[in-house]
Amino acid sequence: MCGSLHSAVHVGVGWLAGLCVASSCFAWGEDGHRIVGALAAERLSPEARAVVIELLGNDDLATAGLWADQIRGDASWDWAKPLHYVNLPRDGSVFDAARDCPEGQCVVAAIPRFFAVASDDSRPMAERRDALRFAIHFIGDLHQPLHAGYKDDLGGNRIQVTAFGDTRTNLHALWDSVLIRDRIAGDWQAYAQLLRSAITPALAAEWASQSDSAAWANESAAITKTIYAELPADAKVGAEYAKSNMPTIERRLSMAGVRLAHAINRAFKNSSAGSGNGTPAPKQDGQVGAADRAIPVEVPGGRVGGSPR
Ligand SMILES: [Zn+2]
Repeated sequence: MCGSLHSAVHVGVGWLAGLCVASSCFAWGEDGHRIVGALAAERLSPEARAVVIELLGNDDLATAGLWADQIRGDASWDWAKPLHYVNLPRDGSVFDAARDCPEGQCVVAAIPRFFAVASDDSRPMAERRDALRFAIHFIGDLHQPLHAGYKDDLGGNRIQVTAFGDTRTNLHALWDSVLIRDRIAGDWQAYAQLLRSAITPALAAEWASQSDSAAWANESAAITKTIYAELPADAKVGAEYAKSNMPTIERRLSMAGVRLAHAINRAFKNSSAGSGNGTPAPKQDGQVGAADRAIPVEVPGGRVGGSPR
């Protein structure tokens, strides 16, 4: 979902730099985040939707989920880079906050933290807006299995893969975007519609009943283990690999959409848009000013650093 290739470049993995062609630089790539946002948007409660519109200027969660990747080139947001993922041990042990998320510096802790800010009426609107955009993005991220991955290979960024005969990529980007791009053939909205029609009320209820981000990390980590076990020895994947793995990707995108809506509905259940007296927030595009850069949450020391992904 995010930062796969460009962050590898940041740490100087030179051989990856040449692979970073425009559309593959965004990780779930842009398509995955758009799909998650679109699935969530139609599940918002009326009161949650009203707050979302006040904060974002609209209820376009599909677009709002892209922002956290779009700011990656701006060093003033570097503190947020470790918040897109969590590293777990390879032995299959479950998420342990003290071990895997010290000082809350991982996606598991970031999600509830940003929701707390987004729903806090006493905070400035700009802080709440950015917190909501982070929260939207991070729920998507955490459902991409390799965002609960391993530190030593940067969540699969260092595993070279050849896809569909001629696409040189890496394991992380394969799951972020390459498989999805191959499947949707340029029309993410049609694909979202397809996924939407498969989400039964029973499935939605089942997925929404698990609202703990640590549990989502454990789900992803279990899938990650399988991904490594099933990667062909020559790291060449094609139609057969896509066919057997797309159901997992579709399920994770759908779960993320349902859970995102549930989390927003819950966060804004008793929230108002704050002191704006019903005045919609200004459209955010192009308005990231100095005031907006205020760090929206209290993050303990060590903001800059950690393993980039
Ligand atoms: Zn991300």
